[in-house]
Amino acid sequence: MRRREGAVFLAGLGSLSLSWVCSVDSFILPHISPLLADANNQGARRFAKGAVIQQAGVPAPGKSYRRMTKSPSRILGATATDAGAPVEEAEVVVIGSGIAGLCAAALLSSYGKKVVVCESHTQPGGCAHGFDRKGYKFDSGPSLFSGMSISPTPNPLKHVFNAIGEDVEWLTYDTWGVQLPEGYFDNAVGPEPFRETIRRFGGPGAQEEWDRLTEYLLELSECTMGLPPFSLRTGPGAVVTMAQFLPTLVKVAKVGPSLQDPFTDVLEKLNITDPFVTNWLNLLCFLLQGLPSDGTTTAVMSYMIADWCRPGVVLDYPKGGTEALVEALVRGVEVNGGKVMLGAHVEKVVVEDGKACGVRLRSGKVIRASRSVVSNASIWDTLRLVPHGALPEEFVKEREATPQCKSFMHVHLGVRCHDLIEAAAKEGGDAFNPRCHYAVVADWEKPIDDAGNVIVVSIPSVLDPSLAPAGCHTVHAYTAGCEPFSIWEGLDPKSEEYKKLKEERAKVLMDAVEAVFPNLESRLDVRMIGTPLTAQRFLRRDRGTYGPEVKAGRDTFAGPNTPLPGLVCTGDSVWPGIGVPAVAASGTLVANMMVSPLKQLRMLKSIDFGGVGVGSE
Ligand SMILES: Cc1cc2nc3c(=O)[nH]c(=O)nc-3n(C[C@H](O)[C@H](O)[C@H](O)COP(=O)(O)OP(=O)(O)OC[C@H]3O[C@@H](n4cnc5c(N)ncnc54)[C@H](O)[C@@H]3O)c2cc1C
Repeated sequence: MRRREGAVFLAGLGSLSLSWVCSVDSFILPHISPLLADANNQGARRFAKGAVIQQAGVPAPGKSYRRMTKSPSRILGATATDAGAPVEEAEVVVIGSGIAGLCAAALLSSYGKKVVVCESHTQPGGCAHGFDRKGYKFDSGPSLFSGMSISPTPNPLKHVFNAIGEDVEWLTYDTWGVQLPEGYFDNAVGPEPFRETIRRFGGPGAQEEWDRLTEYLLELSECTMGLPPFSLRTGPGAVVTMAQFLPTLVKVAKVGPSLQDPFTDVLEKLNITDPFVTNWLNLLCFLLQGLPSDGTTTAVMSYMIADWCRPGVVLDYPKGGTEALVEALVRGVEVNGGKVMLGAHVEKVVVEDGKACGVRLRSGKVIRASRSVVSNASIWDTLRLVPHGALPEEFVKEREATPQCKSFMHVHLGVRCHDLIEAAAKEGGDAFNPRCHYAVVADWEKPIDDAGNVIVVSIPSVLDPSLAPAGCHTVHAYTAGCEPFSIWEGLDPKSEEYKKLKEERAKVLMDAVEAVFPNLESRLDVRMIGTPLTAQRFLRRDRGTYGPEVKAGRDTFAGPNTPLPGLVCTGDSVWPGIGVPAVAASGTLVANMMVSPLKQLRMLKSIDFGGVGVGSE
């Protein structure tokens, strides 16, 4: 979306551009123009004028439909199950079981709405789904989490867990392995370890620059940390749900739009020039959002620095892998009578009398939604699901043109390391002591988002040995957001050319893993290489994209509403963007939009915000 300058009026605060950041770990989000959603609603209304009403093959109004079955709440393979049962009814149908779709569905279910989630894949979770091979359990995507093992926390995913009464066991750690052109080091999170890294690798003025910067960002973080996305909603009801966070809103009003400015503006303003400090910050920005510091908002960085420089900070990992956290959200949907259908590919949104009123599955089955259809598919994929003419052409063109982040390469490996473990036990010390995460930068001279320049290696079995057979490790290494789709486009996955390219492009990943496990190839029980085509196929993401490339200072994320009544979007294509905490916030906003402010307020009271807002006496 091109940047919309429209200021938003909030309960007498006048023009206010409210920035907010959630998340913790990496890959987080930006800002909110509150009533941000209102601003976006306006956009949607603007487009709605031209909307064409379309009937998309639904039974005639008035015809009676079979009620939603109570039998198996999750259905695998909609085709088989659907035979002879072509229509179901729900209040809300969610297309896709990514973290955003599941957060929205679980909250709606807790609010008492009848929800059906239709997932195309046979596993729930989208980017975060898990899978098993030969006794190893793998994460398909995210592995970096924080703010999940503490309470209170600013992490919106934890707020969803609080609200639905579910959670998983969180394993904690505080140290990463970092391989930079300057050399290898263990980097712990926390204020002192960060200063130590700067002291060690920075130039003479680096320490002073870092301190100046962190002081500035910590002050800003009072705004980015103090306004939970759970308090947001569209329309005037926001006055009720956000009123309790007034002190933060006042601070935000003072700081204003600078939170949405590119982080490089802050570096310029504070005269931060030490090459190591700027490179290090560029890396953090890229890990957080898949964009370099000139595309990352100041809000994101102020949030991250405040979070990672918190005394006693730890990072988190869900015991059982990301599959466990997905399962917890699925339980949240199902416990109140909702349903998650797997292998249920949505072919079309059903539009009746100018309103999205359900979905048609590939099997032919129709699931009607009396309230809304929520699409968790990417914006590009969502547009293909809406019947031609149901959305204004201008809107379709604008959203189709949303710039895309590149895709990713990954490898999933099952690694035998009995000998390394035994040798280390004999020798003692640190002979073989893998970290659960590594970040690798090949070359500071290249753009940070150059293909293969930044690699993340995740070895979650270091924290949770149950993820691999005894004496083995489960490894996921990836280059997120920097693999061009164009070089893969049109290749036949069965062709020799494709196999060759896979090996070539995965080499940097294998090399990074080999630095931890010598003679890697001889140790492998499982060796799977994922390409942008894999992501497109199994994650159902257009061109296997990591998400929309929304650059600070140039663009803003779209809001959830569309000009088609009844159709809303959630997930990383809409505000607040890419990353698990961000998409949890997006799912939260969509669910809260569908209930009254008072219901939302009651739910807010079940969340521990740590003395801010509703939680305080
Ligand atoms: C390799 C990798 C590593 C990452 N690492 C981290 C990390 O460490 N920390 C972090 O916070 N974030 C990380 N991220 C980002 C984060 O995982 C994503 O931003 C987030 O999970 C996206 O969630 P979502 O709900 O928006 O969409 P998705 O996960 O894409 O879910 C969308 C769902 O919709 C389904 N769908 C699409 N079309 C249809 C259809 N027609 N019918 C039915 N279903 C359909 C898809 O199958 C999918 O399940 C990573 C991402 C990747 C790819």
